[in-house]
Amino acid sequence: MTVYLVGAGPGDPELVTLLGARLLATAEVVVYDRLARPLLELANPGAELVDVGKAAGAAPVPQEHINLLLIEYGRQHDCVVRLKGGDPFVFARGAEEATALIAAGLDVAIVPGVSSALAAPAAAGVPLTIRPNVRSFTVLTGHEDPRSAPPGYWEGLVTLGGTIVILMGAARIGEIAACLIAAGLAPDTPVAAVHGATTADQAVIRSRLDGMANAAVASPATFVIGQTAALDLSGVGETAGFTSDSPKTY
Ligand code: SAH
Repeated sequence: MTVYLVGAGPGDPELVTLLGARLLATAEVVVYDRLARPLLELANPGAELVDVGKAAGAAPVPQEHINLLLIEYGRQHDCVVRLKGGDPFVFARGAEEATALIAAGLDVAIVPGVSSALAAPAAAGVPLTIRPNVRSFTVLTGHEDPRSAPPGYWEGLVTLGGTIVILMGAARIGEIAACLIAAGLAPDTPVAAVHGATTADQAVIRSRLDGMANAAVASPATFVIGQTAALDLSGVGETAGFTSDSPKTY
């Protein structure tokens, strides 16, 4: 009678938490998103696997429908896992699902995951903060029209002076870059675009803010904007002291 909203992490199944893996191995039903699909290898072989993901080009399953599905499964089973890419509470509509489940009288537990907002920069060797001057990072959605942001939104980000991380920005990164430049961010600010972080498809494209106008970066991609985006501390090779059989190169 508990529905667990489990963060799947950014892609590599090894980056799910131990608790997430244990719940996957025991759940009777796993309701999953497309980006979380690689994690299904950890699911109980007898589990019912329910795909509510958005295949490219196909109509997405309406959120309302997912909520009802979770309530239905939650009433029928002891352990249901709702598997979501990254962290369930970062741009993942986890709040809506949890609210609907709680309103229906079901027990809900949130199992955090490694968000791509953290994992994509890490996989590219880009630190989000460095002492003494990069003191913050801000994670934004790139899904909305950047010109519809409230007054002062882009200027505020520029004033803050920290690293800017953009999720869901592949389609609008050019417009977002233009808004940031108009708000005063230097056109030569480094940008690292990380596609498919921690998967076999991982690709990192390094550019500058004013190079984003015609950037073609396929989704899923995370954009990291700021002085640290010029760094690559991923340490593939000798710099980080890794031996050939230690950490992965994606
Ligand atoms: N809850 C998720 C975010 C869901 S929104 C999390 O915490 O990571 C989906 C967006 O996440 C994508 O558009 C992309 O910006 C980012 N994303 C997800 N997986 C990614 C990956 N492997 N590499 C880079 N970005 C990724």
